[in-house]
Amino acid sequence: MEQINIIKPDDWHVHFRDGEILKAVVPKTTRHFARSIVMPNLIPPILNGRDALKYKKRIENAIPKDEKFKPFMTIYLTENTDKKELKESYKNGSVFAVKLYPAGATTNSDSGVKDLRKVMPVLETMEETGIPLLIHGEATDTEIDIFDREKVFIDKSLDYICRNFPELKITLEHITTEEAAKYVLAGNENLAATVTPHHLALNRNSIFLGGIRPHHFCLPILKREKHRKALLEVVTSKNNKKFFLGTDTAPHLSTDKESSCGCAGIFNAPYCLPIITQIFDNANALSSLESFVSLNGANHYKINYNKSKITLRKNSMQLSFKKSLKLKNAEIIIFQPGFPIYWNVIN
Ligand SMILES: [Zn+2]
Repeated sequence: MEQINIIKPDDWHVHFRDGEILKAVVPKTTRHFARSIVMPNLIPPILNGRDALKYKKRIENAIPKDEKFKPFMTIYLTENTDKKELKESYKNGSVFAVKLYPAGATTNSDSGVKDLRKVMPVLETMEETGIPLLIHGEATDTEIDIFDREKVFIDKSLDYICRNFPELKITLEHITTEEAAKYVLAGNENLAATVTPHHLALNRNSIFLGGIRPHHFCLPILKREKHRKALLEVVTSKNNKKFFLGTDTAPHLSTDKESSCGCAGIFNAPYCLPIITQIFDNANALSSLESFVSLNGANHYKINYNKSKITLRKNSMQLSFKKSLKLKNAEIIIFQPGFPIYWNVIN
């Protein structure tokens, strides 16, 4: 039986939502991960340090008593973000990073940024203070094809931000294309990217496999196989320093996804690590796993590695997946990649 022991991983991009969903999903992340950056796109969004702290308390109340887990909070960048308040919130530790959603890019992003020029003064303060900028990198003009939105954002907006603020720490979130991987590789040391398990596991055919598959619908949307391969290549590379795990685990009730206008988002927290480990194993790259899930993110954010470790074991039997996470009167469907998983976390 094969076994590996690695530094406990972090998940640098999670959606915990709120209320009953929050209470149900937080333990699924804290089971395997030591720290997470928590996204601020609630309704209404988290806009300042005060609200971030209140949200953090609600998350901490949902962490199982025997587990150590640190949520790192973000605020939602708007054209009205107060740079002085942001700087104070960063210095007193209530805010860890700022999230840029182009208006309309994804779930609850209506208050996002319409005109980048209006947030330049905030970005300047962030660069001076060392506050990381996390970016949902998709252009949102309705005439742009949904499969091209990431590439257009990089050309039109990301490059503009990077050129104006070379010292700003930037994470291009949940990248999905060969163009994004290349742009991040070519960028300076302040530019890095997160990659999700579903974008490493699936290509866009999975959305239409024998019929429409709402549980494979996420944003940025899944792309062609050549893009999946490009992502796999950079994350499994021995020299990978710039790409790390951000699962973008994004729970929605099954009734909100199986609908005439289904929500975007894939809930992958429960089996994320077994799936990622299997993907690295299938690519003969288990030796690069720890960099991707436990080291590169901490290096990018200039924080210590976790002290504890976890062990994964490869079994001869396939892992059997639970189909859903049950709530009182509803359920959240759990991501399954559609290929066999033999790895599991044993402690
Ligand atoms: Zn997200």
